[in-house]
Amino acid sequence: MAGFNLEDHPHRRYNPLTGEWVLVSPHRAKRPWQGQVEKDESKALPDYDPECYLCPGNTRAGGKENPAYTDTFIFTNDFSSLLPDTPDGKLDESGLFIARSERGIAKVICFSPRHDLTVPLMDIPDIRKVIDLWVTQYEALGALDIINHVQIFENKGSMMGCSNPHPHCQIWAQSSIPVEVTKEQKNQSAYFEENGRTLLSDYLAMEQEKNERIIYRNDSFTALVPFWATWPFEAMIIANRPVNSLPELNDPEKTALADCYKALTVRYDNLFRTSFPYSMGFHQAPVDGKPHPEWHLHMHFYPPLLRSATVKKFMVGYEMMANPQRDFTAEQSANRLREQSGIHYKAKQSGKIP
Ligand code: ZN
Repeated sequence: MAGFNLEDHPHRRYNPLTGEWVLVSPHRAKRPWQGQVEKDESKALPDYDPECYLCPGNTRAGGKENPAYTDTFIFTNDFSSLLPDTPDGKLDESGLFIARSERGIAKVICFSPRHDLTVPLMDIPDIRKVIDLWVTQYEALGALDIINHVQIFENKGSMMGCSNPHPHCQIWAQSSIPVEVTKEQKNQSAYFEENGRTLLSDYLAMEQEKNERIIYRNDSFTALVPFWATWPFEAMIIANRPVNSLPELNDPEKTALADCYKALTVRYDNLFRTSFPYSMGFHQAPVDGKPHPEWHLHMHFYPPLLRSATVKKFMVGYEMMANPQRDFTAEQSANRLREQSGIHYKAKQSGKIP
């Protein structure tokens, strides 16, 4: 392959005003553009959609055919934002034009062969299969020399820019540690050095004592609206025990995580009686070969909805230029979520989980 260049190869660019990096994937602009397709999301989905590139047996845009899978299915993203063979390279012009080439691997995980399911409608044993796959992927990708960080995330709903309702998530594994993770690592590290305990262990103990923002809790995980929440119904799922990554969870803890993930998302759906859109992501220790006792496994949920299934919160104006702002408090949000039924509204209607 020819040398590194900014037009063809995935890279990071440095913003000297903020001191932060942006990931650029120029090769992705070459993927087919299908134009805007308006979809009526209120319509009931079929359990199989011949047009869906994630359904079993269908052909994807890259020409590859999905197997007739029966539970989970993982494949390398046909239009990956990151590539494993990006040539090494960097740019530094007077400390103002700074760029670094970036290596990585992007994967897609289908949660279920069923086109019409979402996590809140899935059974716990089936969600557990997804968690087991996250564990093995974190380990396998983390074992590669070029990979130092594994980001697992789920984008749900067209409001979040996710055009395909088929239940799935993505993994972007890369050689550098991303911006948000670096920030959390710095603060968790300072806290751990000073106190000898993880920041989130102490935070969780205080939340437990106050019991004002906890939405749901089982033996191993707690779902809550964080004190500092910026999105109206932002939530976190935090491991009750200070484990630093998914592979440290024992067998009952993995099942408890499936239970907590379902419990939170059922309450989300019940809140506005809609398939509640959000971006979910795991934060856990980087896979850079260093010990990370400061890291405490957690998930973030950033949902855009404000007052109903159609009124969306925008982070614009003051929020873009200065800092986030919210009107109702984290405690009010937690109350509204906590009072929702733990049974999905669709399951109630039909008398059984679909
Ligand atoms: Zn985090």
